[in-house]
Amino acid sequence: MSRGDPTVDPQRVSWLPIPDSSGFPLQNLPYGVFAPPGEMPRVGVAIGEHVLDLAAVAAAGLLDDAADRPAELFAAPSLNRFLAAGSATWGAVRRRVSALLTAGNVDLADRGLDRRALFRQDAVEPRLPCEVGDYVDFYSCLEHATNLGRIMRPHGDPLLPNWRHLPVGYHGRAGTIVVSGTPVRRPLGQQRPADVGAPPRFGPSRMLDFELEVGFLTGPANALGEPIPADRAAEHIFGLVLVNDWSARDIQAWEYQPLGPFLGKSFATSISAWVVPLDALAPFWVPAPTQDPPVEAYLRADGDWALDLQLEVALTPAGADEHVVARTSFRHLYWTLPQQLAHLTSNGATVRPGDLCASGTVSGPTPDSRGSLIELTWGGEQPLVLGDRRRTYLEDGDTVVLRGHCGGGGDAPRIGFGPVRGRILPAEQETT
Ligand code: CA
Repeated sequence: MSRGDPTVDPQRVSWLPIPDSSGFPLQNLPYGVFAPPGEMPRVGVAIGEHVLDLAAVAAAGLLDDAADRPAELFAAPSLNRFLAAGSATWGAVRRRVSALLTAGNVDLADRGLDRRALFRQDAVEPRLPCEVGDYVDFYSCLEHATNLGRIMRPHGDPLLPNWRHLPVGYHGRAGTIVVSGTPVRRPLGQQRPADVGAPPRFGPSRMLDFELEVGFLTGPANALGEPIPADRAAEHIFGLVLVNDWSARDIQAWEYQPLGPFLGKSFATSISAWVVPLDALAPFWVPAPTQDPPVEAYLRADGDWALDLQLEVALTPAGADEHVVARTSFRHLYWTLPQQLAHLTSNGATVRPGDLCASGTVSGPTPDSRGSLIELTWGGEQPLVLGDRRRTYLEDGDTVVLRGHCGGGGDAPRIGFGPVRGRILPAEQETT
């Protein structure tokens, strides 16, 4: 993928009207799975306020020169088959879809597909874009790891000795990954006893938090026992989503030693409905921060692998206005995506099409750029003031929205990520 790629040419425009505020211009073309009312889910591409039905486009033969058996890839309730097809097919389909939607092209109109294959996004139901087989949550942001270390271990070194040598991570629960818009029920769980020797409390979490993260979805599998080299990682990364790794801090704090996060994280993880392909992000890679000390050879990847992606978190209490509580950038991430994938497979473990790797919470250097409430309120000591409300952790009825975009300055098209929206429902039982 070079910057001469016509699919990211900022001068290219569509015949379809696209509002200036849209994060889905012709240069983006993110993939998702959607269902019109009463119909089967299928694969689509977001364009402006619409979604192009790739199953219908494939059925008309318009993708025959871009992929083998395209109907099997796109008349499907998940992106997994397309993810497995690999980067040559991803690129060919993207170039074809971009051409079909470019001003002057009449291939869709000639077949009536400009009406039959275009749906308004607000008239269809978004689905989880793929079946996530395995989910890994990394801990790759230096500022977040430092903040958490200071809050959790105020008297020690905030970073543990391994942190600068490997991208720390853990295997999460893939089966509870949900698409944006899915409500999240406050989890029940054991929490630390109030006094030494007292029994732990079991009940609704009182310290429910969000985590602002960015994740990538994997493409073709590696063979068991054959690590993915860092400089080949891009061939195995299809695209990116925003991730809210909901976290119950009280459950997490009581359970996590010695084996790490378990039920404090596994009740729900929300992702955006649209997967922004790596090809759409080509203009926005920048040099990653210098790593000190230098990393092992298996973690070295050529090229610029930090993404200039602007991120924000908005919190809306029930019946109140929305407040943006954090703004940050993904470009400062310490451990890059190729390093994460190389490390994950360095012992010979496989990834399969549709695995999700999340970055870990993304926080910046300033107090208003922290990607979780535990950091924004410094362990609950400094509540956020939201109009006439205060928040240390999330309350029932609160809505959290993560947003992100690249570009958008001057004439550069704004490459938007779909939002990740979730509202907190009361716990299933209110016993304590
Ligand atoms: Ca996390």
